[in-house]
Amino acid sequence: MTVKGPVTPSALGTTLPHEHIMVDFIGADSVSKDRYDLDSVATMVKPFLQDFWKSGGQTLIECTPNYLGRDPALLKRLSEETGLNLLTNTGYYGDEKGQFLPNHVYEESAGQLAARWITEWKEGIGDTGVKPGFIKMRVDESPISETGQKLLHAAAQTHKASGLTIGVHTPDGATALEQLEILQDHGIDPSAFIWIHAQNEDDSKIHQEAAREGAWVEFDGIGPGSADYHFKLINSMRQDGLLDRVLISHDAGWYRVGQPGGSPGDFDPYTYIFEQFIPRLKRAGFTEEEIDMLVRENPQKAFTISVRTIES
Ligand SMILES: [Zn+2]
Repeated sequence: MTVKGPVTPSALGTTLPHEHIMVDFIGADSVSKDRYDLDSVATMVKPFLQDFWKSGGQTLIECTPNYLGRDPALLKRLSEETGLNLLTNTGYYGDEKGQFLPNHVYEESAGQLAARWITEWKEGIGDTGVKPGFIKMRVDESPISETGQKLLHAAAQTHKASGLTIGVHTPDGATALEQLEILQDHGIDPSAFIWIHAQNEDDSKIHQEAAREGAWVEFDGIGPGSADYHFKLINSMRQDGLLDRVLISHDAGWYRVGQPGGSPGDFDPYTYIFEQFIPRLKRAGFTEEEIDMLVRENPQKAFTISVRTIES
């Protein structure tokens, strides 16, 4: 489900599954569309999206959640102006301090939160008509807090009602496995779960464990400073025959709301993977089929909308 409506999975083409166009870290109590000018953001970001297109990209999955600068109208406009597929999300970013969570999270049940997200899926986000293409969450630190558990229960219910894949920003392997367990308790198949920021865990055994269960293991944050480490993690999955569960992305971009001009000097481009990292994978012996799996086949499968429950 793109910001312009549904497409067949293969139409996504070459896809980056975890990037950002705009973020605002002011906090849930102050976040507002009044804090930025949509035209200025679009003007600043558009050339970076065009460079992504020129480097071979066709779909960019925007992972900025609600209360952190999610703006479906901005994404729809940029999609129309660039020809790229863009996806946005529903769900909440449950950071440790709750800085990016609205107060109703603490007052409502998981079912009530799920009802909000399911309404976005069915009716579109606000009055934009744009539907979310996945569920994006953050849940911190194993053992997972009561609030974190509530968010996961809400995500599970939303998945069952919508078929949207659940991507969770995760601090480490122990938390990822605990999240998987909670979702499985709801009967959700691990293939509906993306372990976002799997590179935060340096123990490849835990990546393998999650992948063997069927979860998507996402190594994002790929850039010049981390390429050796990322290569090691991805190559380890390859050696274990688990490349078909791996997603790769930059976690780049970021028009920074509240900073002058969105701080264009800090905006990371969406091209490193195509210009540097894939050539490196090829030099190391990765085949065309394996590259295709990483940047086309896997994201297309991961973001296909279908209810995935455990067959009993
Ligand atoms: Zn991110």
